[in-house]
Amino acid sequence: MGEEFSRLRGSNKGLAESGISFEIVIGCEIHVALLTPTKAFCACENRHGGAPNTRVCPVCLGLPGAMPVPAREFVERGAVAGLALNGRIASLTRFDRKHFFYPDLPKGYQITQAELPLCAGGFVDLEIPGDSGASRSKRVRLERIHLEEDAGKSLHGNAGATLVDFNRAGVPLVEIVTKPDLRSPEEAALFMREVRDVLRWVGVTDGNLEEGSLRCDANVNLIILADGAEWRTPISEIKNLNSFRAVRDACAYEADRQLAEFQGAAPASRAGFSAGFKRTMGWNPDRGVTVPQREKNSFVDYRFAPEPDILPIRISDTFIARASSRVGELPGGMRRRFMETYGLSRSDATVLTADRVLAEWYDRAARSCADPRKAASWVITEVLAAANARSVSVARLGIGPEHVAELVNALAVNLVSGAQAKEAFAECLKTGKMPRAVIEERGLSQMSDPESLYALVEAVLRENGEAVAAWKNGKTNAAAWLTGQVMKRSGGRANPRAAADGVQKKLAEL
Ligand SMILES: [Zn+2]
Repeated sequence: MGEEFSRLRGSNKGLAESGISFEIVIGCEIHVALLTPTKAFCACENRHGGAPNTRVCPVCLGLPGAMPVPAREFVERGAVAGLALNGRIASLTRFDRKHFFYPDLPKGYQITQAELPLCAGGFVDLEIPGDSGASRSKRVRLERIHLEEDAGKSLHGNAGATLVDFNRAGVPLVEIVTKPDLRSPEEAALFMREVRDVLRWVGVTDGNLEEGSLRCDANVNLIILADGAEWRTPISEIKNLNSFRAVRDACAYEADRQLAEFQGAAPASRAGFSAGFKRTMGWNPDRGVTVPQREKNSFVDYRFAPEPDILPIRISDTFIARASSRVGELPGGMRRRFMETYGLSRSDATVLTADRVLAEWYDRAARSCADPRKAASWVITEVLAAANARSVSVARLGIGPEHVAELVNALAVNLVSGAQAKEAFAECLKTGKMPRAVIEERGLSQMSDPESLYALVEAVLRENGEAVAAWKNGKTNAAAWLTGQVMKRSGGRANPRAAADGVQKKLAEL
């Protein structure tokens, strides 16, 4: 937590004494860049970076006469995002123009959705960690999820010159708007992370924060109870927060600033605090402060109007069914299933559901082995370590879930020891062979079948009459020494427990 917010919390005590209490209210608007082959309304390639103005055409440059055509993948991935966030897909959706002037917006308007968004409602469930290690869940309701296009980018160059790069103009976005349900800066950051995780899971975004694939505008204000009355501070909309940390720190700073402003205001002027106007702020991460971006009280009229160049879109049930099939099982549900069905701890289940490829990989191993928990620990320690060492995903390791399942099964029946299993696993990684084959080829199996073990035990007892006599005279540790001899004779392949049992049994029969 930032220093600013600790300061705010530290002052809570003082506030209680002075009869003031408050609650932070946060709502978020998250813009997510969709992974589609093309831009939203033209055939330009949708990719981050590159030399400025190399991926542009008359449509995304807004040249007169150019006609936008919505890409099917844009609408479909938008629907996948909406369904993954539990929203309802509209049967009729429409694009609108939002007019404003900005140098990186060549048309003078942005194509977005106002009255008929693609998706209404929805929710995101958060697991909020508590002080004692326990967590509580919280549902954040969504207002809507709609489609829109991104603007270009202003590059502030030398000598005060500003250049414009339109490569980003027309990049497809979904905007996710919450109800004002978030109650702390930590919750807001957690919300953004959960949205990123879910949408990356269903493959609609790369979720790359450094490249600006997710940007959050946070609306922050306070409900303050003071002197028996309730006040609401004006909402500040902090624009373009592009990391979880920025969301958390900016909200914390802004809450602190609003509280200080309220406390500094003379009681007579507090009436203005319920006026409900909105301020637009930016976040300066270097200084750790929010900065006003427009005149206070300024009101922008976007003059929304239906986009006349694009017909409203009727969404069929087939379209929704196909989008649904692309959503599949979500990480939260899979995490719960791993805990309930396979008996995993929350932390193991969380590691294994960090990405979809890994989760499905583990799931396949767990389904076909005797001990899903052991499989989880193998995947988390051995498999992930091997993948990290080679800087590849588990899907490209050259071995599959069936390898881990077979190895875990071999351990479960004591065919191999832990050390032998690791040796076999290393060989599987190298050759791609199945564990059983490796175990046989290399003679890695433990000797735990009673017959061959008993033969070994009998031989050892025959050859060590002195130790047997000592045992008969009450020297019980002679049994351990004899077990050691059995292990030695087996070349370390005897199962130690089976060897000890065998020695005890034979001695008792003498
Ligand atoms: Zn274009």
